[in-house]
Amino acid sequence: TKIIEYIQNSEKPLFSFEIIPPLKGQSIQSLFNSIEPLMEFKPKFIDVTYHREEYVYRNRGEGLLEKHVTRKRPGTVGICAAIMHRFQVDAVPHLICGGFSKEETENALIDLNFLGIDNVLVLRGDAIKSEGRFTPDPNGHQYASELLEQVVNMNNGVYIDDEIKNPFPSSFCIGVAGYPEKHFEAPNFTTDLNYLKMKVEMGAEYIVTQMFFDNQKYFDFVKQCRKEGINVPIIPGLKPLTSKKQLTVLPSIFHIDLPQELVDEVSKCQNNEQVRQVGIEWGIKQSKELIKFGVPVLHYYSMSKSKAVKEIASALF
Ligand code: FAD
Repeated sequence: TKIIEYIQNSEKPLFSFEIIPPLKGQSIQSLFNSIEPLMEFKPKFIDVTYHREEYVYRNRGEGLLEKHVTRKRPGTVGICAAIMHRFQVDAVPHLICGGFSKEETENALIDLNFLGIDNVLVLRGDAIKSEGRFTPDPNGHQYASELLEQVVNMNNGVYIDDEIKNPFPSSFCIGVAGYPEKHFEAPNFTTDLNYLKMKVEMGAEYIVTQMFFDNQKYFDFVKQCRKEGINVPIIPGLKPLTSKKQLTVLPSIFHIDLPQELVDEVSKCQNNEQVRQVGIEWGIKQSKELIKFGVPVLHYYSMSKSKAVKEIASALF
């Protein structure tokens, strides 16, 4: 089922969450164990992130460093199929530009189509550590909008190889990312919003936001989007705060602000168990306010850890 249909057919906010593939070499069981406790809240879909290859340097002794290419969290497509098979819930794979040629993307889309996956979240991806700034694959896409165009083309039966006879069109419902606090590379908010609008005009049917901890940022973002004529559902992405370290880590990785009130409360905590409690209470308060506002879905970044999300969902669904 398409995300947009779930949203159109529901009168109350839906529940969904995002998981990350296990580290290479780990079994899928730990992932299943983290999904299981959240199934009682009847998620309509589960997002699975995509992680690109990285270059790591391994010490081979005698001062010898060897360059090694590795994907630390492989398996997104297989995980989506496994989740759908085991839990009978829609899995939404993330697709990224970085590290993929157009042919590889096309192959992935064909696999997803054959697996009966109806939705994709189309993203650019970030730079890997050794890059500094995002660099596309020589035969890949620079921006999410270009990847989006490829998916839209396939939905219209247009493949990269235009010699194909009687092409079979796919019918993916396409989501894209939006940034209530601006994407960090955009020179200003208006420019960023214009590119978001472009993605919607090209065929994106819904938006999922970067995490935010101050609902006002989301409310302002929705207002700005509507003013600019972006009229698709805007799904808020929420992350429960679980450790003191995140006070500095989250702003630096995700380029977001944490409200002073939250920082004060977390700073007072003696240990991470207390931080977890503050994070859960904050998450519940944020979610309740968003429900009142009339959001289509509450989407939680669980990072494959179910405890905090379960406590928040228990208070709401
Ligand atoms: P884009 O839409 O391409 O935008 C990137 C930047 O370029 C912005 O500053 C934008 O303003 C600008 N821009 C856009 N189009 C143009 C254009 N045509 N010309 C000039 N400038 C332009 N990363 C992963 O690696 N894997 C994941 O699974 C993943 N999941 C995510 C899920 C969500 C909900 C979110 C919010 C982010 C996720 N990310 C993931 C991170 C994401 O890949 C990064 O935030 C990335 O830096 C931007 O991706 P984007 O799709 O927003 O890029």
